[in-house]
Amino acid sequence: MTYVYDDQNIFAKILRGEIPNDTVLETEHTLAFRDIQPQAPVHVLVIPKGPYVCYDHFARDASDAEIVDFTRSGGEVCKREGVQENGYRIISNAGEAGVQEVPHLHIHVLGGRGLGRMLQPAP
Ligand code: AMP
Repeated sequence: MTYVYDDQNIFAKILRGEIPNDTVLETEHTLAFRDIQPQAPVHVLVIPKGPYVCYDHFARDASDAEIVDFTRSGGEVCKREGVQENGYRIISNAGEAGVQEVPHLHIHVLGGRGLGRMLQPAP
């Protein structure tokens, strides 16, 4: 698989400081910020700072340090947002079938209300 990273995507612009964001957490390799159109009381996006298109790209090419930092940051966001007790959902959309809008890896951390079943039946 060849991954082509578009450095004009909106999260790349956020990482370069060209677009503001509501930061929840920043580490050496990871940034977490609030989704601009929240789907739940807690809706935080966690992204690696490196140029990875999607989860499988990151899993293949990121360094161990980046992977550890990203994974621990996701957990830290759950803790800081107070969703550990009642539960939460993490989603990472990829590609066309996954309806990924922004081609920079991100996980959605959703919580703060009952989230229903994971997928709706196909229409
Ligand atoms: P996805 O469909 O998984 O690619 O989701 C992209 C997400 O990025 C959507 O939930 C958008 O609301 C969110 N989003 C787009 N632009 C921004 C932005 N400037 N700041 C925060 N979230 C954004």
